[in-house]
Amino acid sequence: MNLSGECFCGEIKYEINGKLLDARSCHCSRCRKAFSSQASAYALVDPSEFQWVSGAEFLTSYVGEHGFGLQFCKKCGSTLCGVYQDEVHGVTLGCLNEDPEIEIGRHIFVGSKASWEVIPEGVPQYEEHPPENA
Ligand SMILES: [Zn+2]
Ligand SMILES: [Zn+2]
Repeated sequence: MNLSGECFCGEIKYEINGKLLDARSCHCSRCRKAFSSQASAYALVDPSEFQWVSGAEFLTSYVGEHGFGLQFCKKCGSTLCGVYQDEVHGVTLGCLNEDPEIEIGRHIFVGSKASWEVIPEGVPQYEEHPPENA
């Protein structure tokens, strides 16, 4: 599968030669701020299947205390991907150009969702982390 993504201003573009895995939405207060949204919309990617195509010089990173970080465009502010220990870990679903042929399969940390958010029914919800083999 060939997927591409780009930021809002279009300077930064990437390609994925493979499938996205484990699409999820996290509703914790940290993700709300990091994604400037009601929740994250994020899926994992195999780092060997991901590459920046253009505009990598516009990327900037914010790395948190546990080594997990986000990379975003310093021109337009789009959050493009998550990084863990300097490797791409996953992508934000909002910056994809094509249908990734997966849907958000679980909503996590719904116990701390914003009061104004209504979560769609019919998708598994977890108060915090999902159990190991969910
Ligand atoms: Zn941009
Ligand atoms: Zn979160």
